[in-house]
Amino acid sequence: MELLLLKTAALFQAKEKGKKYLVITFDLIMEKCKLQKQNLLDEKWKEARVWYNSLAMDIRKFVRPNIVSLSAYEAREIPCRVKLDANESPYGFSEALLAVKSLKTNRYPDPEAKELRKLVAKDLRIKPERILQGNGSDELIYYLITTFGGPVLYPVPTFSMYGIISQALGEKSFGIPLDEKFDLDLKRMLSAIHKYRPKIIFLSSPNNPTGNCFSSEKILKILKAAGSTSLVVVDEAYQVFAGNKSFVRLLDDSGNLLVMRTLSKIGLAALRVGFLIAKEEIIREVNKIRLPFNLNSFSQAIACKTLKNGKLLQQHVQSVIEERGRLFRELSKIRQVTPFPSEANFILFQVKEPDIIYRELLKIGVLLRNMNGAVDGCLRVTVGTKRENTIFLAALKKIMKGDAGAQ
Ligand code: PMP
Repeated sequence: MELLLLKTAALFQAKEKGKKYLVITFDLIMEKCKLQKQNLLDEKWKEARVWYNSLAMDIRKFVRPNIVSLSAYEAREIPCRVKLDANESPYGFSEALLAVKSLKTNRYPDPEAKELRKLVAKDLRIKPERILQGNGSDELIYYLITTFGGPVLYPVPTFSMYGIISQALGEKSFGIPLDEKFDLDLKRMLSAIHKYRPKIIFLSSPNNPTGNCFSSEKILKILKAAGSTSLVVVDEAYQVFAGNKSFVRLLDDSGNLLVMRTLSKIGLAALRVGFLIAKEEIIREVNKIRLPFNLNSFSQAIACKTLKNGKLLQQHVQSVIEERGRLFRELSKIRQVTPFPSEANFILFQVKEPDIIYRELLKIGVLLRNMNGAVDGCLRVTVGTKRENTIFLAALKKIMKGDAGAQ
């Protein structure tokens, strides 16, 4: 007796090459388990259940080994009063929602997101053909590794998806520790390039979770060393908070340079919109594996409406930058709290008892990201509104005055 899993909810017997097949589906099994075991070919049913149970227990045997050992990206919904854990903007664009009113729900989106790419291209002063839209820049990381393969190289600590996606796609990846200032360790990066010959090097600048931009000179040296053997992707997810340090302007000079941007950090995280910016030949290759209609109509419309209001976007970014300054100054004043300078919309800070402080803050309703493990003793706080930051600071001060973290 062999059992097959089909998508249809039918149970039947078939004879093929003298073998008996019992074709059965998971939902049918579950249903029958509850309802009518007795009527249904009792013997075979028993057999099917035994088989199903063994399958349920051994499902990992069916999963590719690189996926079995993979841990999912941790994005949990934790109830809280002040949400400062995910590097989102505290400001949304609810008015832009009006843009979806005229959309036709029965039609596919513009497959090429033409208007949106045109707007971004205008802003960056490049041709729209050099931009590829993604369902968030996460999707673009997937596309890049799918298109070019590994090995993949990146400094650590950094954004975890470079490693997770490499592993998901069965590609080797190597994390090279940053130096003590969280800048690139040039010597080690160069020797890793030489040793592993990576196809792609991801550099998040500003870097998540450390918040700093990497030294431009070091990135340039890496670009040079990578030469014609490696592509260098500068992930500029937080670039808008870092002043004028974008690598977009260097795209013409460096054939192996690619840049990623996202709208997630500037008030549009719900839309899932990211962009890859590179020379046209690269965009054309990556576009081959892009899923059809990857960017839905609603996101396209709302993003276009928001980007047309550049002034408001800029005001929001400015408020975040100002609050970041205040947050940094106030954190520096708290005994046994060491904040690290940031050019992003979050601040990493070190404390003695990060796990306890994380939990105590959550008890008060303030949610941060516990980075302890990735960066020793560190928590990461996203810059919120003035009010949110004040609540967070008051809560942290109160906790630090108590036992947690005190010597
Ligand atoms: N790159 C970096 C460095 C990030 O921190 C993040 C989000 N945490 C992303 C990319 C993914 O952004 P998106 O929401 O566009 O997928």
